[in-house]
Amino acid sequence: MIKTDILIIGAGPTGLFAVFEAGLLKLKCHLIDALPQAGGQCSEIYPKKPIYDIPGFPEILADDLTKNLLEQCKQFEPGFTLGERAETIEKQEDGSFIVTTNKGTKHQAPIVAIAGGLGSFEPRKPLINNIESFEDKGVEYFIKDPEKYRNKRVVISGGGDSALDWSIFLSDIASEVTLIHRRNEFRGALDSVDKVQELKNSGKINLITPAEVIGIVGEHHVKAVVVSQAEHIEKEYEVECDHFIPLFGLSPKLGPIANWGLEIEKNAIKVNNALDYQTNIPGIFAIGDVNTYPGKLKLILCGFHEATLMCQAAYQILNPGKKYVLKYTTVSGIDGFDGSRKEAPKAVVKAIN
Ligand SMILES: Cc1cc2nc3c(=O)[nH]c(=O)nc-3n(C[C@H](O)[C@H](O)[C@H](O)COP(=O)(O)OP(=O)(O)OC[C@H]3O[C@@H](n4cnc5c(N)ncnc54)[C@H](O)[C@@H]3O)c2cc1C
Repeated sequence: MIKTDILIIGAGPTGLFAVFEAGLLKLKCHLIDALPQAGGQCSEIYPKKPIYDIPGFPEILADDLTKNLLEQCKQFEPGFTLGERAETIEKQEDGSFIVTTNKGTKHQAPIVAIAGGLGSFEPRKPLINNIESFEDKGVEYFIKDPEKYRNKRVVISGGGDSALDWSIFLSDIASEVTLIHRRNEFRGALDSVDKVQELKNSGKINLITPAEVIGIVGEHHVKAVVVSQAEHIEKEYEVECDHFIPLFGLSPKLGPIANWGLEIEKNAIKVNNALDYQTNIPGIFAIGDVNTYPGKLKLILCGFHEATLMCQAAYQILNPGKKYVLKYTTVSGIDGFDGSRKEAPKAVVKAIN
């Protein structure tokens, strides 16, 4: 049994920052994530994309944000159960919770913070009979490392921002990029659509619309995709490629958390945002993309804020009656659980004449 103060479900940016904020309050955290690595959407969906709205970072790659968050919380020695999905939760007589994963690992904590984001990642897959047998053999639903496609022939399908952005990005890396979409119009940002058109005109992207990929050809690896195009003379024909990347978005699925007796609205967990992001079950909080309340914005910045307030509330639950005085880290410094100490400078405020 793994025991901790705050059990965090989801090691995305919100969960990772919660570890740091809890650490400042001397609370220990353990994180469970269904993915084999920390970082949530940042590392799973768009690791190499720059983010422009993290305060203090004019531009930061999603992957680097994850690295920084891990570095920042490391001193508070969080525990990780990675590659396992939190399946069940049981309340104990002493008020604590036991959360068991799909692999049977048990965790006990008086506070549970669900930072499950979009839930377990479920990419929308095209209806192609044999597609599953080609997964990781040329069929990928996320682009983790664009270098994988250097000098390869890539077919991307989809009509949203991801399909457009990655077609543009890979046109400089892959030997051939073909973008296939079932309509002539795209749903993505206008300047991305213009850029794709430009790249098509200069021969750097093959654009096939309106068309659909209806089959995959290959033995142990993708060799070609079968394209159906109403306006084409042959109607169905093959496009040779090394990789087929359908980018149809993710279908948000809360997964097992949906059965935990929490109040759910539109696939998200309702919380009390006026107070502390607690759910309808006392002791269970929901922070980051996974929660909903009036005016909710699914942004990393908002997850950080919610994590901070959640930790304050958890401190009050775990230390009833103890008064907490907000301390600036610039004044108090940070005592890491690993024995490290980041000193606050002696004189922090310069006198103004
Ligand atoms: C392409 C793209 C670009 C984006 N760009 C920006 C941007 O520029 N700025 C910005 O602020 N936001 C951006 N976002 C949104 C941002 O990524 C999310 O707001 C952020 O990731 C939410 O963080 P989170 O920690 O709440 O959830 P997530 O990052 O979704 O992490 C949740 C984690 O919980 C895990 N999980 C879920 N259920 C379980 C379970 N039952 N058991 C175990 N683990 C579980 C998941 O595996 C996942 O790792 C973008 C999103 C996308 C897809």
